[in-house]
Amino acid sequence: MELPKLAIAALGGTVSMQTSNPGEGVVPMVSGETLLASIPQLTTLARVSVETLGLLPSASLDFEFLLSVLSWAKFQVKQGAVGVVITQGTDTLEEAALFFDYLWPHDAPLVLTGAMRSAAQPGADGPANLLDACRVALAESSRQRGVQVVMNGQIHHARSVRKTDSLALQAFSSPTMGPAGLLLEDRVCYLRPPESRTVLPLPQQTTQKVAMLEASLSADTLLLENILDLGYDGLVIAGFGAGHVSEKWAAKIESIAEKIPVIIATRTGSGSTARASYGFMGGEMDLIHKGVSMAGFLCPRKARILLWLLIGCQQLDELGQYLTDGTTL
Ligand code: ASP
Repeated sequence: MELPKLAIAALGGTVSMQTSNPGEGVVPMVSGETLLASIPQLTTLARVSVETLGLLPSASLDFEFLLSVLSWAKFQVKQGAVGVVITQGTDTLEEAALFFDYLWPHDAPLVLTGAMRSAAQPGADGPANLLDACRVALAESSRQRGVQVVMNGQIHHARSVRKTDSLALQAFSSPTMGPAGLLLEDRVCYLRPPESRTVLPLPQQTTQKVAMLEASLSADTLLLENILDLGYDGLVIAGFGAGHVSEKWAAKIESIAEKIPVIIATRTGSGSTARASYGFMGGEMDLIHKGVSMAGFLCPRKARILLWLLIGCQQLDELGQYLTDGTTL
């Protein structure tokens, strides 16, 4: 029987990092072909094509580049790949995963992975993560689940996954939701059924600018006062607690929300924003009244991805549909 076709692309990140000379820091230099050579078991599971589309630290990925990777991945599915795996840096993995998920139109899985330890470190996790990601991409049960992140034996959905530890091997989690599945021995085991997804059209423009500011104790309003003059098209605020800001910020935000979309998310790292609990100035009820949208379970970084895409594909009217709080779970 012919083995299924699987496509892999390497973009860079720790999984592709090595040192040139002892004592120097690691930098991305390991190609997709070399990564593939670290998991010879895969040849018994799939016919694999691999490409190195970039060798970047993930902090330097940008939306335009991700759009070109998306188009490469879609082409692989058209060419018969049953699944696609992308390796990249973990620092922005949650953002790239969500970006792809909003735009991924196929039932075939798109799986992202990386590594917390470079190829230069003992106990490097790159090969195990890559093999797990390939198993997930090949599994029939992964279909219709959109984009998933596979790290350290766990499968996380793009919508819920976050990098929650800077250096630990167990760096990814899905606060509130938990992982979507696990790799048990060589089996792909999902813990819940696929959820329905809405896919956005490709952005027609990519020049829109969405700012993100974090509320902090006793913060001044200088940046807020200049947001409109600086030409931003949208604003995301990482708010206190359930989506709150100071009175000073609330006053400035009101005039901004009259001109551009403003989303407020929680800076806590977990949970949803509120919508009907706090009535003080700067509380969520006041901000909603001022025209601000509450991010629900989307973290600030993900809310920024969503806003950038909705502006780009001129579907801002749909914003509410993508911001889920407990009322729609
Ligand atoms: N520490 C990062 C990683 O895990 C570096 C990056 O994101 O490129 O890959």
